[in-house]
Amino acid sequence: MGLFTKTAPLRRQIHCPLCAGPLEVGGRTQSIVCPHCNRSIDTSDHVIDYYCAKRLLETSGDVIVERGGTLRGEVKASRIIVRGKLYGVARARVVLEIEATGEVGGEVFAPQLRIAEGAVLQAAVRAGAGAPPQLAVPMQVLRS
Ligand SMILES: [Zn+2]
Repeated sequence: MGLFTKTAPLRRQIHCPLCAGPLEVGGRTQSIVCPHCNRSIDTSDHVIDYYCAKRLLETSGDVIVERGGTLRGEVKASRIIVRGKLYGVARARVVLEIEATGEVGGEVFAPQLRIAEGAVLQAAVRAGAGAPPQLAVPMQVLRS
């Protein structure tokens, strides 16, 4: 009753990042072959707590850049949570969160954007489900 148990990970609903088909995966599933497009997709969460440069990091799970970690490149994930540094192109399917220690530069695309006080955002931002693609607004939020 409310106890955390490691033996029963929740199943979750996701969408294939390649064809957008609906999928249900177990809580600890690391990758599956999509039954709609037959391509292998990464469903794991990625925690970046080191320096990481990638052309593209794509997952249907989450990407978390921890404090002390730096990620450079293009990121596509459900939720992108930044406590360290992220430079490049960030594409969140659900939300991009920049916590107080986080710094994001480059381009940001997210239906929801959450920025903690103290966070740094120096990026072209396109946020909100209704934002038309041509309305990319360069934006600077800097707090000392
Ligand atoms: Zn698919």
